[in-house]
Amino acid sequence: MSSAPSAEEQLDFLTKIQRLFNESDFSSTYKYALLISLADLAIELGKEDDSPLELSNRQVAERFIELYWQQATPYKTSESNESGILFQNNGTQAAIVKAISEFRQQNNCNSSQTAKRSKEYRKLVTSVASTAAKQPINYLQNVGGGTLPFLYERNPNSITLKSGVAYCLRRFQPLIQQLARSRWTDFIKKNTKNISILGEKDDLNSFLFETSRKTLAFVCKGLKELYGNKCFYCNKSTSELEVDHFIPFSLYPRDLMHNFVLACPACNRSKSDTLAAKMHLDKWVELITNNSEAVAKIGEQAGVSSNLETSLAIAKWGYESATLSNGLTWNKQGSYDKPD
Ligand SMILES: [Zn+2]
Repeated sequence: MSSAPSAEEQLDFLTKIQRLFNESDFSSTYKYALLISLADLAIELGKEDDSPLELSNRQVAERFIELYWQQATPYKTSESNESGILFQNNGTQAAIVKAISEFRQQNNCNSSQTAKRSKEYRKLVTSVASTAAKQPINYLQNVGGGTLPFLYERNPNSITLKSGVAYCLRRFQPLIQQLARSRWTDFIKKNTKNISILGEKDDLNSFLFETSRKTLAFVCKGLKELYGNKCFYCNKSTSELEVDHFIPFSLYPRDLMHNFVLACPACNRSKSDTLAAKMHLDKWVELITNNSEAVAKIGEQAGVSSNLETSLAIAKWGYESATLSNGLTWNKQGSYDKPD
């Protein structure tokens, strides 16, 4: 029977992750994207034990496409650089960014979600999977002149996360995600080719990793039409509703449509980065399951990805993590529970 990795094994994993960040050669942003993708896929598909997990190169490629989707559009249009797309590579533009950018121009899809229905999408996945296999998957475990093959074994069209790795990726996903994102942002800033594109604007991190305000306003409008002007948490009727991440963005920083609920400003501020209490979780699961298609439709119009099963898997992971770390959950203003 499989069980969770020991405390010592988990520490060893973290030490190796740290070495990877500090000693690996990062000549493009691909390795950051790969680490984030592996952690995300471990949450979506992994189990709470030390079993190995096979991930196809195409599954990894689809996560890459989602990650680079917004980044393959111009950061700023009115500058000297003709395209305004940020350089993600120390040499010429990264092949994956180029492929996504060309796909977007040719297929006129506003989200990676709608892109999946396009005929050309399969070709895009094939090309991204091939680049990912030749580059970051091939090189990620090369560290400081040697190899540190602790994460996965390579197969012809997939990788297999070694025993205990999916567990550790799930457990430490917020940490790995934050490290990878901050290094990724630094990489873009340090690349001299990006200076003219970056200019004086200071919203690089949100451009790279967050949903725009315009999109959120669209989401807010759609959810109001679906659910009425009512706070999800306290049921208060008000038109001043804000979009809240049910599973907090600080815990799982990726926007998925089913994770959005409407909250009054007071609840939103008070809940902040905490997980909502069990009664809210039960209500949310029921709500998004019953309204899954309508919610997905809002996402499609707004350009936000949506997948009910993925959102439920992320929630399951979030609450398991809270239980493991003895975190509190939020009931209402000033009131918290211990998770079950
Ligand atoms: Zn409220």
